[in-house]
Amino acid sequence: MLLELLEGGSPEHAAIHTPGDGTSVTYSQLREQVERLCAQLNALGLGRGDRIAIALPNGLEMIASFLAAAAVGTAAPLNPAYTLGEFEFYLEDTGARAMIVPFGGGDVARAAAGATTPIIEASIDRERKVQFSAATTAGAAREREDVNPDDIALILHTSGTTSRPKRVPLPHRNLMISSSNVAASYALTSEDVSLCVMPLFHVHGLVASTFATLLTGGTVVVPPRFNPLSFWAMVRDHRVSWYSAVPTIHQVLLSRSKAGTKPAGAEQLRFIRSCSAALAPQTMSDMEERFGAPVLEAYGMTEAAHQMASNPLPPGSRKAGSVGQGTGVSIAILNDACDLLATGETGEVSIKGPNVFHGYEGNPKANAEAFTGGWFRTGDQGYLDEDGYLRLTGRIKELINRGGEKISPLEIDALLLTHPAVAEAVCFGIPDRVYGEAVAAAVVLNGSATEAELIAHCRSSLSDFKCPKVIHIVQSIPRGATGKIQRRNVAAEIGER
Ligand code: AMP
Repeated sequence: MLLELLEGGSPEHAAIHTPGDGTSVTYSQLREQVERLCAQLNALGLGRGDRIAIALPNGLEMIASFLAAAAVGTAAPLNPAYTLGEFEFYLEDTGARAMIVPFGGGDVARAAAGATTPIIEASIDRERKVQFSAATTAGAAREREDVNPDDIALILHTSGTTSRPKRVPLPHRNLMISSSNVAASYALTSEDVSLCVMPLFHVHGLVASTFATLLTGGTVVVPPRFNPLSFWAMVRDHRVSWYSAVPTIHQVLLSRSKAGTKPAGAEQLRFIRSCSAALAPQTMSDMEERFGAPVLEAYGMTEAAHQMASNPLPPGSRKAGSVGQGTGVSIAILNDACDLLATGETGEVSIKGPNVFHGYEGNPKANAEAFTGGWFRTGDQGYLDEDGYLRLTGRIKELINRGGEKISPLEIDALLLTHPAVAEAVCFGIPDRVYGEAVAAAVVLNGSATEAELIAHCRSSLSDFKCPKVIHIVQSIPRGATGKIQRRNVAAEIGER
């Protein structure tokens, strides 16, 4: 069903453009490439129900591999920057039957795959076609089977309330509906060109920047990564009409811009979308002034196959500090007793809609906590104003949101506790100018260790973005009246000290 994304585009229209190597593929070429890759995956013994991990950087290989993996089985994209231990965990937890890595690259991912997970290398040949090659197969060749809309197309993880991430299975239907909600929110057409600067192992880059654009027959410009130095040249040269990013990226672009001079290319932008972390009203107004395009803040979540709410395009009114109204998704505010709260009352943001997933995989406890009366509780706190615009006021769930990357503090607590000199550890978010939030920790020692040694200990097992920026070595960790550690209080008390 996800391959229906490629049906809307006119055959000779550019579907994907990768500025790094100048590759451009039309809709008919992309369809042909993906069909061929599907056949190759089947020949390698992969089929319906099989999870296919993908550790590729952004680019044509990633998009074509993703679509083929999702059409044949289930795509499980992983952050190519994971450490060995992280790759081992995700491959095992997902039950990956094979992993797609860059031709000749992805050493850490390969090491984690070991002898148990067959490796498929993805490369681009001289004719700009994505090719798979593999030394071993996952089993006997499989037949191509029809996709049912309820089959799981994508499996991702979200940071949980324990140190173990939760598996989020997303069916084809949910992804198609979410893509179409994004397309409708911004009136996307085949004339649109989106610049994808968000990683394609996350729903933001996949669903908003890529799928919504393909669904409406437009063009996705996809560099390997966000680079502020080449950003505006890319916007100008490829006639980009919109892009979506986290506030950190917007801020980096703002900090490099000059007041009173619009970057060349910005005049083509119809709108700019911000999602995945809170956009400060000042950043929004500075962007509108410098870049001259309406900035629309949206609210997304993996469990909702990305978008839940968005501010509208003009002439609709966009409100700074609000994530807008539900986009094909009903939004309610619930209290602890699961009662629906009135306009203006603050409680837990809860959602219902055909894009919302049906539950975490193999985690009945998390499902029992998250679903009530048909509502999915997001773990975010907020209220609806008199116009039905949602304002997020905080988080009930214990997550650190570092520039859109969600980090479970428990994962870092657990790792710090493996250091022989650490007796107690508690990790928390601290305000950060660039990332919105950064990771900090407080530890009580029962041996000798310096802050630098403890940070190095974290770096040996965790991706860089998860490593604490500061670790406070303290005599005791502040506890609440019940003796329980409350992260928010720890953050405040340590901050004061
Ligand atoms: P993810 O599953 O990584 O997309 O993260 C979803 C979480 O990101 C939400 O539950 C929110 O906590 C946060 N989030 C998404 N969009 C926004 C936004 N516009 N403002 C504040 N937080 C956001």
